[in-house]
Amino acid sequence: GSLPSRDDVRAIIETAYARFREERSGTVADYIPVLAEADPAAFGICVANTQGDAFALGDADGTFSIQSVSKPFVFALVCDALGAEEAARRLGVDATGLPFNSIMAVELRADRTTNPMVNSGAIATTSLVGGANAEERWQRVRDGLSRFAGRTLTMDERVYRSEADHNQRNAGLAHLLRGYGRVYCDPDEAIDVYTRQCSLLVTARDLAVMGATLAGGGVNPATGEQVIAPDTCRRVLAVMATAGLYERSGSWLFDVGLPGKSGVSGGIVTVSPGKGAVATWSPPLDAAGNSVRGQLVTRFLSEALGLNLFVSA
Ligand code: GLN
Repeated sequence: GSLPSRDDVRAIIETAYARFREERSGTVADYIPVLAEADPAAFGICVANTQGDAFALGDADGTFSIQSVSKPFVFALVCDALGAEEAARRLGVDATGLPFNSIMAVELRADRTTNPMVNSGAIATTSLVGGANAEERWQRVRDGLSRFAGRTLTMDERVYRSEADHNQRNAGLAHLLRGYGRVYCDPDEAIDVYTRQCSLLVTARDLAVMGATLAGGGVNPATGEQVIAPDTCRRVLAVMATAGLYERSGSWLFDVGLPGKSGVSGGIVTVSPGKGAVATWSPPLDAAGNSVRGQLVTRFLSEALGLNLFVSA
């Protein structure tokens, strides 16, 4: 299958943009001052297919910190390096059903694994990135995510500093996991690299290309580069489906029928295997930390573009 024709995709995105343009529900993240400054009216949509076309509207080129949307891409790098089965054994792949920063999630299972799409599992994932020290791991993360985006991504220093000053809960998670043997390097180093990774600046257009790379067997549709192995993609998409929207992942799958990943800056990337990806940016969030407008737009687009995986042909 493929997306509808270029003209149809363009018209459908325009309809979605107009329909949700006035949507104002939700609250911008305020756990650090720099995120609280985000413009609640910012609104971008980008759809990218696996052939290299991108359809962008609104603030699709506005930058924001990637936050948790980095998680599937770092997991992809780790799966590629270690093998997906080894990565799954060490990180877990089951739904937690709990908020993204849950400490209880760590205590749910006897083996103390969670899921790479929530903070505990994501910090553990980052700790598995190869490298002799934090700097090497960070370079590998930045380089890997840049290859997904097809351009060199840079970090927002203010977001990084601010996150690093308000990192006690993630540090607590990392040390707890280290105590259980489930963080695989120095926990403070793991947190530092994880915090940097969350502070990378992206646009909705970047997220669409990154998602389309997962949709297209690991080939970046813009650069043609094979970023990760084809077999890695289905594993990454599976963990996105289980926990990509945290405790709302079941409702998301019920409504949208596609693997997605959200972040607290208001980005959501949604992948349609074999076809492409939808990316949205709108900062106001629901209680779970997922963009309200992003969820509404993606649900509309999944239906209008015929992307739901559970629809019989
Ligand atoms: N930097 C944020 C954190 O670790 C990312 C979380 C998110 O986007 N949900 O708390």
